[in-house]
Amino acid sequence: MSMVIRSKALRLVILISTLLVALIITVQLVWLQKVYFFEAKQFNINISKSIRGLYEDMPLTHEPVGVEKLIENPSNDAYLIKVDHAINMDTLLKNLSNELVDFGIFTDCKVALFDNTTQQYVIEKYIDLPDAYHLSVNHDIPVFERNYPYVIMYFPHRSQYIIQQMFFWIVTSSTLLIVLICFGASVFYLYRQKFLNEIQKDFVNNFTHEFKTPLSVIKIAGDVLQQPNITQNPEKLSKYAGIITEQTVHLQHQVQRLLEIAFTEQRNLQLVKEKFDANDLIKNAINDMQPLIEEKNVVIHTSFITTEPVVYADKSHLFLVIINLIENAIKYAQKPVIEISTYRKENYFHIAVKDNGIGIPKEDQKKIFERFYRVTDGNLHQNKGFGLGLHFVKKIIDAHFGEIEVDSTLGEGSVFIIKIPKNYI
Ligand code: ADP
Repeated sequence: MSMVIRSKALRLVILISTLLVALIITVQLVWLQKVYFFEAKQFNINISKSIRGLYEDMPLTHEPVGVEKLIENPSNDAYLIKVDHAINMDTLLKNLSNELVDFGIFTDCKVALFDNTTQQYVIEKYIDLPDAYHLSVNHDIPVFERNYPYVIMYFPHRSQYIIQQMFFWIVTSSTLLIVLICFGASVFYLYRQKFLNEIQKDFVNNFTHEFKTPLSVIKIAGDVLQQPNITQNPEKLSKYAGIITEQTVHLQHQVQRLLEIAFTEQRNLQLVKEKFDANDLIKNAINDMQPLIEEKNVVIHTSFITTEPVVYADKSHLFLVIINLIENAIKYAQKPVIEISTYRKENYFHIAVKDNGIGIPKEDQKKIFERFYRVTDGNLHQNKGFGLGLHFVKKIIDAHFGEIEVDSTLGEGSVFIIKIPKNYI
C-alpha cells in the first residue's frame, strides 16, 4: 500500500511543479509581449517626435493645421508626412536623419516623395543611419494612394529593430527558462532516485523475509531430524526431510530471483550460446514447475514446431525467460489455462505463451518491461512480485537481438511472443 501512496504523492508533486513551471512560462511570455508593445509604442513616439522636429527645422507645408493632422501612420512600418510640392529632398533627408539620431532611432529607413498626379513615388532615398542594423535594403516601398503629395518614411526592419531593443529581456527570460528547466530536471531526478531507493528498501525487506522464513523452517526440521530416536519414527523422518527439500526448492527459487536482479543491473550481457532443441527446453521448464502447476491446477497445452526446433542461444538464460513467462501466466490468472506454442515466421523462431488471465491495460503494455514496473489498479497488488521478471526477459531477448511482443485484452488474457532472429536459429 505504501508504495502506491508514495507514487501518488510523487505524481502530485510532479504535476504541481509542471503546472507552476507552465504558469511561470506563461507569465514570461505575457511579460515579453508587453515589453514588445511598450518598445513598439516607444518607437512610434520617437518617430512622431522626429517628424515634429522636422517640421520645426524646415517648412514642409503651408497648411495652417497642427502637426498631428499632417502625419499619418497607415501601417506599423510607414509614416506619411503631408508636404507641399516644392520641397528640397536633400535638405529634408539631412534634417530627418539628424532628428532620427537625436531620438535614438537606429534602424534603416527609406524616404520617398509621393506624387499625387501620377500616384507614384518620384524620388526615393535611403537614410543610412550610423548604427543602423542592415539586413537588406531591397525593400520596395508600399504605395498608399492619396490625393495630396506626401513624404513617406518606411522602416522595412521595424520588427527586427524592436526585438533587438528587447535583447536584454529576451536574454533574461531565456536564462530564467533554462534555470527553471534545470531545476525541474534535478527535482524530477531526485524524486525518481528517492522513489527507486524506497522501492529497493521495500525489496530488501521483503527479500530478507523470504529468506528468513524457509531458513528457520529448515532449522526446526533439522533439529527434529537430530532427535536421537528419530530413526524409530520413519514417517516423521520422511515428513521433515520433505519439508527441508520443499524449503530448499523455495530458497533456490529466491536465489534465482536474486541472480536475475544482479543480472539486470549488468550493462553488457555475456551470452554463452549453443545449439539446442527449444521444444525440449520448454518441456524441461514445465517439468521444473510441476509443483506450482499442481498446486494451482494449471492446464497447459502445447503445440510445438515439428521440424527444425533447434535454436542457437544462451540456454540457461532462455530457460529463465520461459520460466518467467509461464510463472506470470499462472500468477495472473484465477484458473490458469496456458497455451505454449513454437513456430517459425519471417526468419524468426517464435515462442508464444498465451494465458486466460486478468490481462494488461493498453497503456501499461509498453511499461511492463521497465524495471520495477507493476500494473496497479489503485489497490494493493494481490500477487507478490517486484516488477523485475519482464525487465529481465526483455534484456535477455534484446541481447539475442530478438523481439518481445505482448497482446492482451483486459479480463480475457494475454499472449507474450518471443522472436529469436535467424542468426540465432
Ligand atoms: P512481477 O510479476 O514480479 O510483478 P513482471 O516484470 O514479471 O513482475 O511483470 C510486470 C507486471 O506486468 C506485473 O506486475 C503484472 O502487472 C503484469 N503482467 C506480467 N505478466 C502478466 C500476465 N501474464 N497477465 C497479466 N499481467 C501480467
